[in-house]
Amino acid sequence: MPKITQKHKDASKPTVIKVTKVCTICTDKKPTAIHRCTTCKTSPTCFKCVKDWIVGDGGIVDSTGKFVYSCPTCRAHLNISATMVQDSDVKTKLYYYFLHEVENCNVDNARNMLGHYPWLATEKNE
Ligand SMILES: [Zn+2]
Ligand SMILES: [Zn+2]
Repeated sequence: MPKITQKHKDASKPTVIKVTKVCTICTDKKPTAIHRCTTCKTSPTCFKCVKDWIVGDGGIVDSTGKFVYSCPTCRAHLNISATMVQDSDVKTKLYYYFLHEVENCNVDNARNMLGHYPWLATEKNE
């Protein structure tokens, strides 16, 4: 095996550039800040900010009864991850929407929501 001698010409220059993602909403450097939106690839948001947004005004139920959220930056509809839906605050928000549909006799909407989230039928109203 031939010997490979590697010469580091410029040792002072860092070879690995670490990119710390900064959440565009809270401007915190967080490892959970990821590109959640395919349109806003350069606008990472962290789990907490996305959650706050969903629990606030960002979470909406689309025409198929799926719980989605509008991108805080470009308003595109984005899927809420299964992990996020398991969050108790997010669940409460979704349940609130479900109750709203039931109370307004929007049977189709409520049924669509149950199709995506069967647990809504057994959720307790606290
Ligand atoms: Zn954030
Ligand atoms: Zn976006």
